[in-house]
Amino acid sequence: MENRHVDSVKRIGFRKWYERQLLSSHAHMVLAFLSAIAIVGSMEAFRTSQGDAQLADALFVVVSAAIGIWALRRYLFLLMRAEATANQASCPDCGDYGRFSVVGQRARLMEMDVRCRKCSRDWVISSGS
Ligand SMILES: [Zn+2]
Repeated sequence: MENRHVDSVKRIGFRKWYERQLLSSHAHMVLAFLSAIAIVGSMEAFRTSQGDAQLADALFVVVSAAIGIWALRRYLFLLMRAEATANQASCPDCGDYGRFSVVGQRARLMEMDVRCRKCSRDWVISSGS
């Protein structure tokens, strides 16, 4: 499935990648929150409107809910993947955190082969379930 993140880690390095993932995940959380406000607002409008306006309000509730659910799922996905990766980012030998280079990737399993920049130890990071 989604495996471009391995390329991103390779290109910009783990620390920067992790930072961006957290920013992106929180942006999605904000979007989910705004969608919830929009839902409440249009439900309120729905109660007082009639005819076509009411139909438009109902449609707006559905659209806001769809965006909200998507944003929430995306938020959780990005956060969990970032945390799962971070939990495996320390070198098993020297304990150095997040200082590895990507030496290979396994397309199907959401795994990447990495090598410690300090002691050259190889290990595998799995970022999906
Ligand atoms: Zn090491």
